[in-house]
Amino acid sequence: MTDELKAQRPAPRASSQVSVIEPEHKDLGGFSVKRVLPARTHRMVGPFIFFDHFGPADFPPGEGIQVRPHPHIGIATISYLFEGQIVHRDSLGYTQVIRPGAVNLMTSGAGIVHSERAGDDLDTESRLHGLQLWIALPDELEHTDPGFIHYPAEDIPGFELGAARLRLIMGAWLGYQSPVHQHSPTIYAECSLPAEARVNLPMEHAEIAVYGVSGRVLANGHELCSGTMLALNGAGEIELEATQDSRLVIIGGDPVGERHIWWNLVARDKADIERAKAAWKAGEFARVPGDDEFIPLPD
Ligand code: MN
Repeated sequence: MTDELKAQRPAPRASSQVSVIEPEHKDLGGFSVKRVLPARTHRMVGPFIFFDHFGPADFPPGEGIQVRPHPHIGIATISYLFEGQIVHRDSLGYTQVIRPGAVNLMTSGAGIVHSERAGDDLDTESRLHGLQLWIALPDELEHTDPGFIHYPAEDIPGFELGAARLRLIMGAWLGYQSPVHQHSPTIYAECSLPAEARVNLPMEHAEIAVYGVSGRVLANGHELCSGTMLALNGAGEIELEATQDSRLVIIGGDPVGERHIWWNLVARDKADIERAKAAWKAGEFARVPGDDEFIPLPD
């Protein structure tokens, strides 16, 4: 092989940037949430600006998730459960139960209000475990009309690569295409790997990260356990070696530019956040049919 040919090969992973992101632990009304993004050291991964891993949480009868109506601007929220159920209601009039393996994609654009509450398992012991991520909308869609789409679990492509079982939540990858709408080039996938399995996952996007939901793996030589994210920007592949039965998610995509984030509001221009704050305080956002409560604007 000549030096010229060598020069055309992808950069070795030693030159990729690796950062370890540890979550902040939040209490979201009775159960614990790991807030991974935005981190002080790492604001975004591709278009992903917010990453919450909630539970697994066990609720006694009569208790469960109760997130009262609140507004969003500038993002799409994508919800994905491993266990349990959540009832989504929004100001467009959608009421939708989400269950494990399904995807709720809510595009806020210029503004939407929604609540997330326990379902018909409220009266029994229940368990909840899942992820909610926010995807910053690209400049041209920042003020688009709001929308909501539910994708049942059977619509999400599942496939195997070696010992890895993969589900493609968003994007195109390894010859598969997720039906979940993407506003900009994005990848979001779940990966399950049995103990001692190894697999190499080719990655195409500029910014990528792998997050440990459960178990323990080596990812490109770095130990990754539950609750930790490893950003691997520039890595042409993710080399995984499971030391335990493990569940991971991979996120990434093309960067959309810097964003301001305050409470549930995301914008390129801080003035949009100030306008949304004033509108929420003045009760000018649309109401959620069937859910009359609301979260007041934080001080
Ligand atoms: Mn929300």
